[in-house]
Amino acid sequence: MNIIELKKISKSYKTNIGNFEILKNINFKIDKKKSIFLFGPSGCGKSTLLNIITGLDVPDKGSILYEGKSIKENHMELLKKDIGIIFQDHYLISELNVLDNIKLKYQNISEINEILNYFKIDDLKLKFPNQLSNGQKQRVCVARAMVSRPKLLIADEPTSYLDRENADLVINLILDACKNFDLSTVIASHDISFKSNFDYSYTIENNSLIKC
Ligand code: ADP
Ligand code: MG
Repeated sequence: MNIIELKKISKSYKTNIGNFEILKNINFKIDKKKSIFLFGPSGCGKSTLLNIITGLDVPDKGSILYEGKSIKENHMELLKKDIGIIFQDHYLISELNVLDNIKLKYQNISEINEILNYFKIDDLKLKFPNQLSNGQKQRVCVARAMVSRPKLLIADEPTSYLDRENADLVINLILDACKNFDLSTVIASHDISFKSNFDYSYTIENNSLIKC
């Protein structure tokens, strides 16, 4: 059983210097409760693919099914609850403390507290983003992505701004949380060292998705 299925997805970008094909005829299934690693050099199309999965970007061709239903009409609803996203940048609002930042995504206080407790970051609740280390910021982002209890977690280079120790910690935190809460995850990174921690791994080469 899969949570999302991409069928024959193609995407190109038109720019002032021409038309660039990024993804061509991609088929991709994300099985329930599985972790997928997406790696490859900068520019190969990882973010493009993830943005199509989350509905932040639209393909030129092809279709996307979420639990068997076409995603076109309802992806914003899915983003509110069923799909959690973690980006390279934290996108925390500097004027709001951690709790208020998370409340922008999801308002149920007892569930927020549960998640903060699970990630052992209760003590950061009233701090502002500039009072947090990069590692702490990214742990807050993991908690924010998980607070609505999504079924799918997408993380695009979540460790780029972290040192080795914090990068390992954040990847393991995401993978453990996915196992614990029964969700599927796709994490993109150019750092191939994480590959063995995942159920499956893929790369993008010459506009195609390759299982490795
Ligand atoms: P990755 O995440 O693997 O680094 P991206 O998916 O961000 O790769 O980008 C793939 C290619 O598409 C790159 O060559 C990039 O310059 C280009 N690209 C990405 N977004 C746009 C856009 N909005 N307009 C034009 N080109 C883009
Ligand atoms: Mg990228």
